[in-house]
Amino acid sequence: MYVMGVDIGSSSSKAVILNASREMAGQAVVSVGTGSSGPTRAVEQCLDAAGLNRGELAYVVATGYGRINFPGADKQVSEITCHARGVFSQCPQSRTIIDIGGQDSKVIKLGDNGTVIRFIMNDKCAAGTGRFLEVMARVFEAGVEDMASIAANATEIVDISSTCAVFAESEVISRLASGTKTSNIAAGVHQSIARRIAGLVTRVGIQPEVLITGGVAQNQGIVAALEAELQCNIKTVPFPQLTGALGAALTAYEEVMHQDE
Ligand code: ADP
Repeated sequence: MYVMGVDIGSSSSKAVILNASREMAGQAVVSVGTGSSGPTRAVEQCLDAAGLNRGELAYVVATGYGRINFPGADKQVSEITCHARGVFSQCPQSRTIIDIGGQDSKVIKLGDNGTVIRFIMNDKCAAGTGRFLEVMARVFEAGVEDMASIAANATEIVDISSTCAVFAESEVISRLASGTKTSNIAAGVHQSIARRIAGLVTRVGIQPEVLITGGVAQNQGIVAALEAELQCNIKTVPFPQLTGALGAALTAYEEVMHQDE
């Protein structure tokens, strides 16, 4: 028996297949999200990785921003629920989840049994999201995956005073033009995102253990900047971008188990 979870975000599409033992049999990340070929490609790539065809899936759950427009699912579940489930299955000690995606960021507070007690979301502006990093990486003529290694060479942190991504981009361009070290500016970009996220965390109330998910969790510079800002350790999971898809797949698994009862 196989089930699939599909997480359709604003900037990427992710899929996970679990087998009857709830082990990951396939996974895929396609770096385009809702409204593109991303969701279909993520499903196809995930099926290929597992060596399966669509007919062999017992149940499919879709989550993420684009879940409603995805035709291939048996059920849609909110990304808050799926992130919580995906995190709790891997780290049951987690009580505060920070999820930084492509166009939004969220802080989710979990109870002792993994249920969502509270959450807060920033989806109104690019500050504190992966989009902010993408804009800055472009100015540095680098990829988002290079930002952590660029910032690792910083000798000081340049304060980025603009929170708006558009103004911050102009600020970074003028810093570069005046000869400021790129790595110091990159460290400032990470600090800017970390400050913004710390503001959200404070509103929800921080409770250990704190864990970070979403595509931006792959950036060690962001994790370190957040640890400095929040004055606590932040845990990561092996595939932070797949957490929502994993939670969706676990929900699909439970649906099949209930059907069999
Ligand atoms: P969503 O679910 O909202 O589509 P994701 O959780 O997939 O978003 O995160 C997408 C973001 O992750 C991108 O905007 C990008 O900034 C960041 N990202 C993706 N891959 C990497 C990487 N290898 N290193 C650092 N950041 C990354």
